[in-house]
Amino acid sequence: MSVVLVSNSRGCDRAMATSGSTQVVGVFGWPVEHSVSPTMHNAAFGALGLDWCYVPFPVQPERLADAVAGVRALGLRGVNVTVPHKAAMLSLVDELTPEARAIGAVNTVVPSTQGLVGHNTDARGFYRALAELGFSPEGCNALVLGAGGAARAVVCALASAGARVTVCNRNPERAQSLVNDLGSAYPEARLCAVSLTTDAMCNATRGTDLVVNATTVGMWPAVDASPWPVVVPFPVGALVYDLIYNPRETLFLRSAREVGLRIGDGLGMLVHQGAEAFKLWTGREPPIGVMRSACESALGKH
Ligand code: NAP
Repeated sequence: MSVVLVSNSRGCDRAMATSGSTQVVGVFGWPVEHSVSPTMHNAAFGALGLDWCYVPFPVQPERLADAVAGVRALGLRGVNVTVPHKAAMLSLVDELTPEARAIGAVNTVVPSTQGLVGHNTDARGFYRALAELGFSPEGCNALVLGAGGAARAVVCALASAGARVTVCNRNPERAQSLVNDLGSAYPEARLCAVSLTTDAMCNATRGTDLVVNATTVGMWPAVDASPWPVVVPFPVGALVYDLIYNPRETLFLRSAREVGLRIGDGLGMLVHQGAEAFKLWTGREPPIGVMRSACESALGKH
């Protein structure tokens, strides 16, 4: 028996015994030391009394294929995949879920008898975060800022729920290619692309029920930036959601709250994408409250 240090639901480090029967999962990233996922998952394993352990693995991009061979060789029960490996993982697993294929990124790997399956739990995590806020995207009009990997997951969730989605990005070609790719995956979806300019946004906000920031603008340490031009009014009555969770309240969210709109921060999506991975690996119902408190404590330390 050996001992590893993990963080509990209050973010305090504690010694956890591991043995020959401890099941190991983890996260591949480069860098990975700032990930809050180890704290979140180890707190969940502890709360359910599971003999499982979640380990951060710093994996250099050129060693990703070796690390995936390690998942098979060492019998890991699964891994999360974070920046910069999410797209590269697509070609390293044996099978992809339709969501991972449509989004073009894998964030969770699950071993099965057929081999390694690449999932993307970000879309479902986003959907559940909206549900927690009492928002149902079915048939709504949504405006998504950004066209990177996270925006793809958000648009996937919204398109599969039957929302009409306008994707607004600084680089309009990238927005258009997102719309083309997800339009092929979801032929019923009503998607369009515009550039992130004042005129285009003024037009795009008409009748909008949901505005989502899926850009990196406003993230720590550049907390004084917002992707939303000050001259564009927020759509009346909309829910305003920011995928960023550090800081919890970005300038974008503060501006929306100050004009009386409902807001949601990225912690909900972070917790729910993790909870979906937890469920896939363990088959157990994740302790959402424990996972949320662990993330809050871990982020408080950053
Ligand atoms: P990404 O692939 O690098 O995409 C970045 C996006 O931000 C692109 O659309 C980019 O536009 C835009 N952007 C960057 N700088 C900009 C600027 N100065 N002005 C306007 N637009 C700008 O990143 P990602 O992986 O999609 O992540 C996006 C955000 O989501 C990050 O803050 C990440 O932490 C967050 N996230 C949160 C969760 C969660 O669970 N809450 C999950 C995943 C991601 P161009 O295309 O024009 O460069």
